Amino acid sequence: MSSILSVCWTISALHAPRPWLHCSHCGTQSPFQSSDKIRVNANGKRLDIWLIYRCVICGNSWNRPIMERTPIHAIDPAQLQRLMSNNRETARHLAFDLASLQRQVKKIEEFSDMAINKTVLNASANAAVLEITCALQKASIRLDRLLATELNLPRNQVQAMTKAGHIVIQADGKRPLRRPVHNGMRIRVALPEVDDADALITAATGGNHNQL
Ligand SMILES: [Zn+2]
Repeated sequence: MSSILSVCWTISALHAPRPWLHCSHCGTQSPFQSSDKIRVNANGKRLDIWLIYRCVICGNSWNRPIMERTPIHAIDPAQLQRLMSNNRETARHLAFDLASLQRQVKKIEEFSDMAINKTVLNASANAAVLEITCALQKASIRLDRLLATELNLPRNQVQAMTKAGHIVIQADGKRPLRRPVHNGMRIRVALPEVDDADALITAATGGNHNQL
């Protein structure tokens, strides 16, 4: 009999970063938002590919270069197919590629709001341990903030429990609570050490713990 309640938290950013650009229509600096539309233009055996952004104030477009005069044979065929078919997931992936956007635009607005989807992988009636596995999708969040918010605990209690060994974080390096969560990170909470374990389980599972 397993005494581990195992959950997966899928953490995804809700909003892609927005470049601020001079809008020729508004006549001022404005935030532009990805339309999640890709445009491909063939020029002989070379391709230009853009991600289309729109000024949030007036709708004026900005074509963000993704590839410029790139020989067709240099592009992975599967990726080319996704770009040509305006694959939504690919467009979102490009929109969330902050490092590449930073090379193109000086001022970028980032958002911290995210969606956290909680799935119970393995339920146990009298679990002694809660194990959380984090799956990260284009999101960045500090671990202490994540745990405090999603377990509904004060941040100093998360710190105290970690110090006491009642929360164990599987991570390389020091002070993992102060660092961003990484994909596949595992956190274990000793449930008998929690004041209100039922409330913590409800928070950790999003109330889904009785469904298995
Ligand atoms: Zn505008």
